[in-house]
Amino acid sequence: AEAALMQSEKLAAVGRLASSIAHEINNPLESVMNLIYLARQHAALPIVQEFLDTADQELRRVSIIANQTLRFHKQTTRPQKRTGSDLFLSVLSIYEGRLRNLRIGVEHRHREKQPVTCLEGEIRQVLNNLVGNAVDAMPNGGRLLVRSREGVDWLSGRRGLFLTVADTGMGMSAKTRGRIFDAFFTTKGIGGTGLGLWISAEIVARHQGRIRIRSREEEPHRGTVASIFLPFEAASFQETRPDAG
Ligand code: ADP
Repeated sequence: AEAALMQSEKLAAVGRLASSIAHEINNPLESVMNLIYLARQHAALPIVQEFLDTADQELRRVSIIANQTLRFHKQTTRPQKRTGSDLFLSVLSIYEGRLRNLRIGVEHRHREKQPVTCLEGEIRQVLNNLVGNAVDAMPNGGRLLVRSREGVDWLSGRRGLFLTVADTGMGMSAKTRGRIFDAFFTTKGIGGTGLGLWISAEIVARHQGRIRIRSREEEPHRGTVASIFLPFEAASFQETRPDAG
């Protein structure tokens, strides 16, 4: 328990630091983006327009990264009781249009008798990241399975809720799999930040849960299964956020 507390103190310190860095980054970014906007109106040479376009794109990327971190740490919610199906339904509603356009079929399987106590906004952010990754992995359509069920975590012997997102997408190599939880690791080029799973792992750790992501390396293109476990009794996850409130 002491090791867990130390870990959570570290996370809280990292959180405060990230939050203030994001804040400090955001203000100058906005003013530079405004300056670029003005410069573009006065740039006569097409090549200069192009340079400014690129500069603007890159700055937007930094801004997304900073905002993700900031939003994550500034959330000050109280723990709430939520079922897996509630959480999934609210997250999937955001994706309705994209799922239809990409011809991705969704299957829900919810077998749970009791809700879990969690920081709702944060767990929704985790599910949003997992669903977003699943959608990104299926540019040519496929099937998305979202599942919630109660069970026992074999490692700790605790009871809790398993929330699973499975896709029939491109999967990943063992090499990629080894790095997915690293901050800024992405295979999506300019379209990715590489922060989704890094943040997700932190949030799940704060709930004293576990996150697991598997692809069949020996059989590429056979999809990925991502799941999180949230214990019913997460005794102290509030205390890991002394900066909240
Ligand atoms: P991002 O989505 O911005 O790249 P993440 O941390 O969410 O950042 O994901 C890191 C990397 O993990 C992705 O770039 C991708 O290579 C891999 N990945 C995560 N989920 C999946 C998935 N469902 N299918 C295939 N690859 C995945």
